[in-house]
Amino acid sequence: MATNRCTPEQVEDMGKIFCVANQKGGVGKTTTAVNLAAGLAQLKQRVLLVDLDPQGNATMGAGINKATLPASVYQVLLGLANVKQARQASESGGFDVLPANRELAGAEVEMVELEQREKRLKMALAEVEGEYDFMLIDCPPALSMLTLNGLCAAHGVIIPMQCEYYALEGLSDLVNTIKKVHAKLNTELKIIGLLRVMFDPRITLSQQVSAQLEQHFGDKVFKTIIPRNVRLAEAPSYGMPGVNFDPASKGAQAYITFGAEMVDRIKSM
Ligand code: ATP
Ligand code: MG
Repeated sequence: MATNRCTPEQVEDMGKIFCVANQKGGVGKTTTAVNLAAGLAQLKQRVLLVDLDPQGNATMGAGINKATLPASVYQVLLGLANVKQARQASESGGFDVLPANRELAGAEVEMVELEQREKRLKMALAEVEGEYDFMLIDCPPALSMLTLNGLCAAHGVIIPMQCEYYALEGLSDLVNTIKKVHAKLNTELKIIGLLRVMFDPRITLSQQVSAQLEQHFGDKVFKTIIPRNVRLAEAPSYGMPGVNFDPASKGAQAYITFGAEMVDRIKSM
């Protein structure tokens, strides 16, 4: 009989660090990272959400004030604090956060001097790996040193995308970067899947692009589709993940389903 269960050794092998990345801005990375974290927490998974964006949107969306951080991922990357000192609990989300604020923008330049600068995050996360079932990294909208740190730390990449014409164009740059990182820096890295977000089925072009994605990328396209839903956009201003802000909304339901699909997908990797 087929079973989804796996032994503890297999779980160990599959890795648990996932980057949410797309160098295009405003495509739903942070919304995906925060709601996947909260969805996995509802499935009783222990989650650390790493905010790797100086905008600090994931931090705020998890209900943590980015203006008053005692320590952040910035100090962690520069070796001035460790993850245990900098992390905070998101009460609205049920997961831990390694927070960020605009100070992080300076890290790009300051890391230039450091050895193994693209592996700083990987080394820092190793210290707490045993405490979590999932670590999710919310990347900034650029293929920068920060994103490179995310890709070097991760076992896999989740790529959120809107089903519009220009989405496919940017995708090849991202896929090429992932291939290069895989070849030179992190042989464990794989694309876990493409996630269609902010989807509006009434738009013909969205349906066409969605079908094209399935044709080109096959199983790499997640089955779950995240609809455009205003409740997901409203939730951050309350410092809450959408899945907890309005659990009955279509957007929340979709992210819960996506959490379950993620768990299944990494089991079968
Ligand atoms: P950036 O590149 O600036 O980091 P991002 O890729 O992280 O952006 P988000 O911040 O998650 O993108 O989303 C961009 C905007 O779209 C936000 O205002 C967010 O609330 C909204 N949004 C995201 N997903 C949805 C959705 N499914 N339905 C409606 N609004 C959404
Ligand atoms: Mg973002």
